[in-house]
Amino acid sequence: MKIGFIGLGNMGAPMAANLQAAGHEVVGFDTVASPDGLDMAATSAAAAEGADVVITMLPNGDILRAVASEIHPAMKAGAVHLDCSTVDVQSARDVAQAAQNADLSAVDAPVSGGIGGAQAGTLTFMAGGPTDAFETVRPLFDIMGQKAVHCGDAGNGQAAKICNNMILGITMIGTCEAFNLADKLGLDRQAMFDVVSTSSGYSWTMNTYCPAPGVGPQSPADNGYKPGFAAELMLKDLNLSQMAAEAVDADTPMGQAATDLYAQFVEDEDGMGQDFSAMLPRFEKRGRG
Ligand code: NAD
Repeated sequence: MKIGFIGLGNMGAPMAANLQAAGHEVVGFDTVASPDGLDMAATSAAAAEGADVVITMLPNGDILRAVASEIHPAMKAGAVHLDCSTVDVQSARDVAQAAQNADLSAVDAPVSGGIGGAQAGTLTFMAGGPTDAFETVRPLFDIMGQKAVHCGDAGNGQAAKICNNMILGITMIGTCEAFNLADKLGLDRQAMFDVVSTSSGYSWTMNTYCPAPGVGPQSPADNGYKPGFAAELMLKDLNLSQMAAEAVDADTPMGQAATDLYAQFVEDEDGMGQDFSAMLPRFEKRGRG
């Protein structure tokens, strides 16, 4: 396939490299980055021209909307705009409508798996959009990732992503505050892990990504809380979840509490640049408030 790839940052550059290595013809565009070994166009529209699929991997919904308005007029009829950025649900739905108006199709397919997954080609994609467009881009998902779930209509990929990450943020806080309580009650961390990881409090954050150093499988906690998944990216996704909850009048008290706590951690404390599991040392430093 002929692929335009716009947004070649931490995630986009390795994803584009994997597509090119698999034999696709990839032309990139980025306002700043210029990865080695990739043909670059002078504008986003030039990267999109003649492509069967144009992939965007951008920081937020406003930038996605701006880039969509540049590339849609340049794309050939019937081509697919595949957005893999994490953005608000409404931007994804508006961009899909704009694509349809321009005789194109759109798929929103945010990812989980982080930079390591992008490099290794093991991302998980959660996709929203028409079935035929999903099928068109499925071979690309197979190269860039290990799993793609079609979640329904436009915006449903973003909906799945923010619901998942809202659970993740809430659960990480719960796991960290429980470790901190256990510490103060004199419970050994290994004993805490051995019990919880095989009892009803188990979770991905405890069993796979344990926030306590030296306990459980290797995780960012064992590497000085270097991300991993940075606290500010968790805050971005939690903010998107609360924006969506407000738009549809969904009551998400735990999601709101997690958003407030990560905002405090990132904006007022030392959370910026640390892994999101660094909530545990944060709790250690504080009493009840
Ligand atoms: P990044 O900041 O490294 O890359 C974004 C790129 O977009 C940059 O190179 C920037 O120059 C480029 N860009 C900005 N405006 C542009 C424009 N108008 N035209 C062309 N290029 C433009 O970010 P990232 O870590 O690669 O993340 C990309 C997306 O993936 C985000 O939506 C993020 O939330 C999501 N995501 C990131 C991770 C992660 O671990 N980094 C994990 C899952 C999802």
